[in-house]
Amino acid sequence: MDISKIYDLFLGAGHGSGRISTDTRHLPQGCLFFALKGDHFDGNQFAAQALEKGAAYAVVDDPAVATSDRVILVDNVLEALQELARVHRKTFSFPVIALTGSNGKTTTKELITCVLSARYRTVSTKGNLNNHIGVPLTILSVDTDTTDMLVVEMGANHEKEIALLCTIAQPTHGLITNIGKAHLEGFGSLDGVKRAKGELYDYLSKKKGTIFVNAANETLMELVSKRRAFGDIVFYNSESTAPNPIMIGQTPFVTYSIGDLVVSTHLVGEYNFNNICAALRIGAYFEVPEDQAHRAISDYTPDNNRSQIVQRNTNTILLDAYNANPSSMAAALENFSKMDAERKMVILGDMLELGNESKSEHELLGDLIARGAFDVVLLFGKEIAHALRSLPKAYYFPDKFSLHNWIMDNPQQHTHVLVKGSRGMGLESVVNFL
Ligand code: ATP
Ligand code: MG
Repeated sequence: MDISKIYDLFLGAGHGSGRISTDTRHLPQGCLFFALKGDHFDGNQFAAQALEKGAAYAVVDDPAVATSDRVILVDNVLEALQELARVHRKTFSFPVIALTGSNGKTTTKELITCVLSARYRTVSTKGNLNNHIGVPLTILSVDTDTTDMLVVEMGANHEKEIALLCTIAQPTHGLITNIGKAHLEGFGSLDGVKRAKGELYDYLSKKKGTIFVNAANETLMELVSKRRAFGDIVFYNSESTAPNPIMIGQTPFVTYSIGDLVVSTHLVGEYNFNNICAALRIGAYFEVPEDQAHRAISDYTPDNNRSQIVQRNTNTILLDAYNANPSSMAAALENFSKMDAERKMVILGDMLELGNESKSEHELLGDLIARGAFDVVLLFGKEIAHALRSLPKAYYFPDKFSLHNWIMDNPQQHTHVLVKGSRGMGLESVVNFL
């Protein structure tokens, strides 16, 4: 069946995010079910069940299950979903802001959304749905009658992914948060990361779009200088641009001043100041009243273990267990070492997906931890054993059970604790034992 017919069915399914489902556990009545394939499942097998549970139509690519007129057979379900999103995107006449980068995408997306929402009806990526499925779902969640702005997070582990996501989201504006060492397994090297993230700039320079650039980030400035044909280049985080907030400290939350105004936030980590500057600049660019933009930033509270402060007994925990890679680990350690505290402990887990660089990156991590001169160092995982080389006094735990036991046997008092590791390490569990 051709996509325009599926698009008619999609429009017929009503407004907003309830029109599409890819999961039979969440099936709004009357939706279109897309039978996607995963590593361990084939959505085609669930098409009949989706129809029984209330989907109006099921889009499949296995002819064997195309047995009723409510089952729509296509060549490839994923490509059909992406194409449907492209068709829907063509109906938008408002700004679409795309965000990518190695670290801070979700936080920056949330901050931008809060700031823009002060003036516009703003839709953005839910949570971290930033890949080849999440981006089309984000586009398809938009009800054009009730939306003034869209903010789309784009993630990538390989080159050409951002280029593909750009053909789906067709951004008019874009921002790369930063370029660091993340997902090296797929990118091969830092140059690979630069090329991959640079695909957003490539797309926007081809389409004469607008980019927002952290002027304090040399790598980004270098990428911009190689592509000159943007519609507009808007810098932030530089003295010559307004608004020009100044970071005044961490209490442990980031506090900044702007003119006479002092704004306190719920964000931990100096690195978040960059994310704040990005959101404020975009707010100013779209003429959100400044006082409302600052209020939006100061009201925003992160969730999902992204740089949260948790108080346990007399201990203050910086829970940053949502993910980790060499650049976010370095940012977190540098930040933690600057913090004022009587006693400091770090509980760190493996940085995953580093491929051939894993051993050397964990060795470098050891050097970084050593420089921080923390009172107690606990390391958990397999790869992080390479960090021990420069940490003779660190405690090492190959399994989580022994890590939890150590924490229970050695209760800490009046200690600041940084907890960070890749998502797969699930380090948030330690909070229960501190
Ligand atoms: P993901 O790849 O999982 O989607 P993300 O890019 O969306 O990650 P966030 O979830 O916003 O990033 O933040 C994850 C972690 O990255 C934070 O907890 C923090 O440690 C670090 N981080 C956030 N912002 C920055 C930044 N500007 N520079 C360096 N590190 C940052
Ligand atoms: Mg994210």
